[in-house]
Amino acid sequence: MKSYKPKVFVDFDGTITKQDVGNAFFRKFGNEAESMKAVAQWKSGEISGRDLLLTEASTAEVTESAAEKFVDGFEIDPTFRIFFDFCREEGIEMSILSDGLAFYIERILSSNGIAGVPVYSNSSHFKNGGIAIEFPYESECTKCANCKGYQILTQTGADDIIVYVGNGFSDRCAVQYADIVFAKDELLKYCEESNITYFPFNTFEEVRAKFSKILGSGKLRKRHRAELKRREAYLSE
Ligand SMILES: [Mg+2]
Repeated sequence: MKSYKPKVFVDFDGTITKQDVGNAFFRKFGNEAESMKAVAQWKSGEISGRDLLLTEASTAEVTESAAEKFVDGFEIDPTFRIFFDFCREEGIEMSILSDGLAFYIERILSSNGIAGVPVYSNSSHFKNGGIAIEFPYESECTKCANCKGYQILTQTGADDIIVYVGNGFSDRCAVQYADIVFAKDELLKYCEESNITYFPFNTFEEVRAKFSKILGSGKLRKRHRAELKRREAYLSE
């Protein structure tokens, strides 16, 4: 039997952190009503993730130090470390995929002693009392700014088993291509509605326990529909 290698991709906001930091950030420093309206429009498909971020940032008044102080108030799932160490010990690659902003992801990871994990997200810089957003990753996706499905397709090959852990709306493109999905909150509902097989979770300790069991059972298998989707995407390139 062919032996596949798992590659783990993890969402940040609301998955590693207990709350959605990006969302809270723009509600705090931008126009709260406009920000909430833009989020609703993004969820209904009226605007893209890119337009959502640009709209939110356009009303934000914030300095770098105020932003840093604010994000320092957010906690991560204390068991993320256990999962992170487990993957490292098993020699399994992990990346963080986010449609949020690098500055708070990197700051929160580093203040929690998590180092050496690649982060693929949008970028930003502070200027003139506001925040300007940059989009380092371009894809054809009209739903996302940094499309996680696109990231998975470009970072994996035929011998990889794709493991995805997420909670929200911006994870929809990712789970199409994932073989093993761990889902909670909105993503769990989406998987239910879309008939995507998933494991529910609340904490990363649960993810570690289940994933360790799957690895130990030797039943690391591709999900047929995900494999077809990936093949389709590779062919259309
Ligand atoms: Mg999330």
